[in-house]
Amino acid sequence: MFKKILIANRGEIALRIIRACREIGIQTVAVHSTADANAMAVRLADESVCIGPPSAKDSYLNIPSILTAAAVTGAEAIHPGYGFLSENAMFARMVEEHGFTFIGPKADHIDKMGDKVMAKKTALSLGLPVVPGSDGAVESVEEGKAFALKAGLPVLIKAASGGGGKGMKVIRKIEEFEEAYRTARSEAKANFGDDTVYIEKYLEAPKHIEIQVFGDHHGNAIHLGERDCSTQRRHQKVVEEGPSPVISHADREKIGTLAADVIRKMGYVGAGTIEMLYENGEFYFMEMNTRIQVEHPVTEMITGIDLIAEQIKVAAGEPLTLNKENIRFRGHAIEIRINAEDPQTFIPSPGKITQFHTPGGLGVRFDSAIYQGYSIPPYYDSMVGKLIVHGRTREECINRMRRCITETVVEGVKTTLPLHHWIFQQEEFLSGEYNIHWLEKKLATR
Ligand code: ADP
Repeated sequence: MFKKILIANRGEIALRIIRACREIGIQTVAVHSTADANAMAVRLADESVCIGPPSAKDSYLNIPSILTAAAVTGAEAIHPGYGFLSENAMFARMVEEHGFTFIGPKADHIDKMGDKVMAKKTALSLGLPVVPGSDGAVESVEEGKAFALKAGLPVLIKAASGGGGKGMKVIRKIEEFEEAYRTARSEAKANFGDDTVYIEKYLEAPKHIEIQVFGDHHGNAIHLGERDCSTQRRHQKVVEEGPSPVISHADREKIGTLAADVIRKMGYVGAGTIEMLYENGEFYFMEMNTRIQVEHPVTEMITGIDLIAEQIKVAAGEPLTLNKENIRFRGHAIEIRINAEDPQTFIPSPGKITQFHTPGGLGVRFDSAIYQGYSIPPYYDSMVGKLIVHGRTREECINRMRRCITETVVEGVKTTLPLHHWIFQQEEFLSGEYNIHWLEKKLATR
């Protein structure tokens, strides 16, 4: 096992990784920008190194700085968390070339899944149904139009290198195609440095269902059930829950086994998530995330398994001790993402936290790196915490979440807690029948 791990991230996930390391008995190194000198992860890690100025490109994305920090502190492995360099194949390669272990999959797998066109082809060839779409990249307006007419409108133009819900364009009328296509390509170029786009049939009422998977260096692969992340705004997740209120035990076993088979055939190592759309009883592969996800605690709460600890053990070469027989799903879990944003306009609200109180009690978990007196810097993602609750049933879980939302106090900055308070009163959410378009439509009529 590693003696020391460097965490190439910040915020709640940096803290989450420190917690896992401490329980296993691994020393931690936090890296931070000058804006994060007072971060909780910096305080709690055994050592810390400043890697640059506030701008992420000069600090959390600064590969030479991070590798140097690992070398001077004698870290053996690097955990990338989520976001930043977590899905950067070049970083994974450089980490290994410099003699450290990358806590994540092989660089080739990151490459393969990072290109969504290639990812879909791979998934299809390994037996997963995919969202009906163009056969790879769409190179011209004519080709795109021809596909749209053949498949039937509406269609969705997506960036091959896209992420974070950015760079997607829905087309409902063929006259809109040309302009949308050109805008999509230039936006993809500007945001991701790659103007490759592809087209998918736009599904009108699907759920976003994702399967947590794990592989090791010894050819073992498992699935840990699904998370329903259909409560979204601008293609970004707002609430996540597991198990999904609409997936039967038989369907879970079927799609989970299929997902684990794909991982096994790929020789995939580490944690991953297979994201799918689910409509009219059918699953369609959308993409695979080759890292730990924000919403991993949902799975941890219903399985009792520390996914970060598993990532570390697998990276160290240990075989997975989890298998179909010893993974038990218990009860229901829901996570809400608390963003420092105006709950009406969603404009970020950085600043100093003057009052802070977290909820507690049975089945309650609060993953966050904020504290009273802490100043949320304006440079990074506005998600500042996650409230996760567990209950024996979905109903118990919802009641617990409502109680916890009213117990939570964050003063000094605006947060999305009032939005969550509202979501947990909505009929459609309570019924479990909501789809990926529900929240946005509902907000428009609020
Ligand atoms: P990203 O990597 O940018 O998050 P995804 O491919 O995961 O992109 O898609 C993000 C979200 O966009 C999905 O969760 C879903 O809500 C929506 N979406 C993606 N593809 C489709 C589709 N073909 N039809 C309808 N909605 C889609």
